[in-house]
Amino acid sequence: MERIVEIEKISFEGEEEIKLRPSCWDDYIGQEKLKKNLQVFIHAAKKRKEVLDHILLFGPPGLGKTTLAHIISAEMQTSIKVTAAPMIEKAGDLAAILTNLNEGEILFIDEIHRLSPAIEEILYPAMEDFRLDIIIGSGPAAQSVKIDLPRFTLIGATTRAGMISNPLRDRFGMQFRMQFYENEELSRIVTLASIKLQKECKKEGALEIAKRSRGTPRIALRLLKRVRDFAEVAGEAMITKERTEYALNELGVNEYGFDELDLRFLKIVCESRGRPIGLSTLAAAMSEDEGTIEDVIEPYLLVKGFLERTARGRIATQKTYELFSFRDSRSLF
Ligand code: ADP
Repeated sequence: MERIVEIEKISFEGEEEIKLRPSCWDDYIGQEKLKKNLQVFIHAAKKRKEVLDHILLFGPPGLGKTTLAHIISAEMQTSIKVTAAPMIEKAGDLAAILTNLNEGEILFIDEIHRLSPAIEEILYPAMEDFRLDIIIGSGPAAQSVKIDLPRFTLIGATTRAGMISNPLRDRFGMQFRMQFYENEELSRIVTLASIKLQKECKKEGALEIAKRSRGTPRIALRLLKRVRDFAEVAGEAMITKERTEYALNELGVNEYGFDELDLRFLKIVCESRGRPIGLSTLAAAMSEDEGTIEDVIEPYLLVKGFLERTARGRIATQKTYELFSFRDSRSLF
């Protein structure tokens, strides 16, 4: 079953997704501190006629890392090539990408923590000296080849700050952590998108979608589209709060934005009777892989105080017990 609060990226962007993606700073809502800093660095680089330093973006999926990379390229008045680490398997794959870059171009590598150590080794001189150092052939006939590359900016995105190797991390001159969005910000994103979708959402409706979007624009837009369907079928000209509540309840998204998967996760943590529960045990109990739990489920629950992560494992908080109407861990038994 497709998860309505799913935050995995759709591999193919439809026309509608492209229409909704902000293309300039004014449309890029929130992340104010990061935006302000980046605007300064972009301005300075342009003034000096230099390429922008390499940028590393950390943060859970759907918070706007790819969108930001596109805006940076537009602001730098340069083009962008987009790829993801799992697509770069061999040294030749990376060499082909790097040698095809244009001067000043931006290379966006998503899920950069998934690059193999051998590929990372090739990336280091490319990032530092705009030079490609590769070995062609093997055995005694092997030859080391050095190729000058055009100057470029690498923008790396990752959902796992802890999984980036130190040498790679050190080569990024700028590092930014994306924040979950406030309800007010998400509500503005929903309102703007609803206008673009020609089905305007009333203020209270937009806020209701925002509250149930786990702080994530991608989820907010996905929910908006589903709510729009309900409004359309009901023959309503605008999206109201009542229709939004009805639609989101029908879709099984509760008032915190938790769906069945989140609730199942929290229930398992609660049922461990206050004892810390390890990631592998949780993954086995939920039949989900550890990556999904760490990248998709946990970050929002941690930020919102429904979960604590200790060295010995995960534990539920008072808030979680209250969610299930248990007064404290003891009242479970
Ligand atoms: P990520 O790369 O972090 O997974 P994306 O950049 O693909 O996330 O963002 C998902 C969608 O959410 C985008 O298509 C865009 O329409 C929307 N979005 C993300 N960040 C913002 C923002 N700050 N303001 C408006 N819309 C946003």
